[in-house]
Amino acid sequence: MSDNRLAWDQYFAAQALLIANRATCRRAKVGAVLVKDNKVIATGYNGSVSGTEHCLDNGCLMVDGHCVRTIHAEVNAILQGAERGIPQGFTAYVTHFPCLNCSKQLLQVGCKRVVYINEYRIDDYARYLYQEKGCDLVHLPLKEVKQAILDADFI
Ligand SMILES: [Zn+2]
Ligand SMILES: [Zn+2]
Repeated sequence: MSDNRLAWDQYFAAQALLIANRATCRRAKVGAVLVKDNKVIATGYNGSVSGTEHCLDNGCLMVDGHCVRTIHAEVNAILQGAERGIPQGFTAYVTHFPCLNCSKQLLQVGCKRVVYINEYRIDDYARYLYQEKGCDLVHLPLKEVKQAILDADFI
């Protein structure tokens, strides 16, 4: 048995992909993992308010071209993290570049690094805010994460 371990960024990005699988909206499956000192603080995927109907069962609830039923993955992760507290200077691993609202909220709770897999609808103002707040943006393409998983050893 060799000891081919995933690098930290690939390790947490792969977790974001796995978590996204639980998303309940057909339009996008998004996952987020908040990490500090290489430890997971909280995770989230996009889904409706707990106990209410899912897009998967009832179709999306569209307003102005957006599905408004779900809480975004990043916000769900922040809400989960809020139960125990979110340390300043954490890294957010996300399957999709965060939307403007999620970007603002990540920055407001002290995010200092965002590692994103999919360059999905990158908002110019969000990019400006990340720069203003000194939050690093790192693109880790899906191809690389998948290859890292294929090259890694399991069990
Ligand atoms: Zn939906
Ligand atoms: Zn969002």
